[in-house]
Amino acid sequence: MSEEILVNVTPQETRVAIIQTGVVQELHIERSSARGLVGNIYIGKVARVLPGMQSAFIDIGLERAAFLHVADIWEQRKPNEAEKPIEKLLFEGQTILVQVIKDPIGTKGARLSTQISLAGRFLVYLPQETHIGISQRIEDEAEREHLREKLQSLIPAEEHGGFIIRTMAESATDRELEADIAYLRKIWQDLQKASRVSGAGTLLYQDLTLAMRVLRDIVNEDTSRLRVDSRETFQKMQGFAENYMVDMLPRLEHYSGERPLFDLYAIEQEIEKALSRKVELKSGGYLIIDQTEALTTIDVNTGGFVGGRNFDDTIFKTNLEAAQTIARQLRLRNLGGIIILDFIDMDNPEHRDAVLAELKKALARDRTRMTVNGFTALGLVEMTRKRTRESLAHILCEPCPTCQGRGEVKTAQTICYEVLREIVREARQFNAREFRILASQTVVDQFLDEESQSLALLEDFIGKPISLQVESAYPQEQYDIVLM
Ligand SMILES: [Zn+2]
Repeated sequence: MSEEILVNVTPQETRVAIIQTGVVQELHIERSSARGLVGNIYIGKVARVLPGMQSAFIDIGLERAAFLHVADIWEQRKPNEAEKPIEKLLFEGQTILVQVIKDPIGTKGARLSTQISLAGRFLVYLPQETHIGISQRIEDEAEREHLREKLQSLIPAEEHGGFIIRTMAESATDRELEADIAYLRKIWQDLQKASRVSGAGTLLYQDLTLAMRVLRDIVNEDTSRLRVDSRETFQKMQGFAENYMVDMLPRLEHYSGERPLFDLYAIEQEIEKALSRKVELKSGGYLIIDQTEALTTIDVNTGGFVGGRNFDDTIFKTNLEAAQTIARQLRLRNLGGIIILDFIDMDNPEHRDAVLAELKKALARDRTRMTVNGFTALGLVEMTRKRTRESLAHILCEPCPTCQGRGEVKTAQTICYEVLREIVREARQFNAREFRILASQTVVDQFLDEESQSLALLEDFIGKPISLQVESAYPQEQYDIVLM
């Protein structure tokens, strides 16, 4: 199926949309502020060796010194050699090549390794290693052996480094693998050259930005066109394509149209929809998508009253449409982990099979790994989708501060009763002249109207006046009781 890729670039973020048959199927967003340091390669300088902790502090030019444990020094991993203590491996003032394996968090510095690994499209290059490894996800033993032999024959004779074969390599041609090997070796050669003329604290390598990763990881023979709305990024991508994927050059375009790029396929609206809990179906039904930490549940509902002779048929059609919509929403929202689908009950087993088949067909377009089990005894479909990047909602949203992520807020009446109980408690504890309730407009209105009698009764009970004050900035659940 032919696909088009749109890349929208601003200084703050890069957004990528993958379009198939005129509809956005996949979204990727990278914010400059959230780009981590993992994968960065620096020239580090040993600041302190700590024999007691078998680790060292390394200055890599960041505010806080980074941390290197003896187990992450690659010389240690050589077989047939006794482990050496860190004080025999490093000395203060020494410069070494290091790669960040964990971002700094809070007061902890970044964690480093001296083992360098560079990711390509199909391969990961380990220049200091010698063996060929294969992703665990390629399970077939014969396929593993075949790939290993193929790669061995493509690696130039003078190359002594190691490679890891990624899952995507399964469908790669010899030419593509060769291009990947050449690309990775060139990065390493450039990096070594730079390291000889640069001082400690220099950043030598950074993993690709999202725009470049689109070229490296997403583009394939089905990509008919890739449009970018930033001239600068377009030129960078062009340079990358010239070096590593010449076939892509004629399909790469700088978009300079009047209309914002993402308006072409109403992508902003699609993003908005991909964040909402309810998704409308054309047949009149709708989906309710709930994402919790442990799992995602998707409930299929009919629009309204379904009656008469075509009852089964209407339900069947709604479920079929839901199956397609679910597949697209999972990909668009990038939902991972366990997913439970609750289709509308179907009595006809043929209908059930057809809905399951439709779901599997729609999911086949997704490049993420998935498993789908059949209907359970309770009529639910259980599936898993591999967690890759963060979900769209996690990148763009935070839990609602009003409802603390529950999705519901206490009613004004509930808050009124909480306030009344709190005043009784405080009246026993403190000797105030007067109590003043600071609350949202809706809660104050409730006190003035439906709950005016409760308030009057309480005033009598505690023998003190109670006044009301609207705090327009307060959400419904927030209030304060002030002693005057
Ligand atoms: Zn809320």
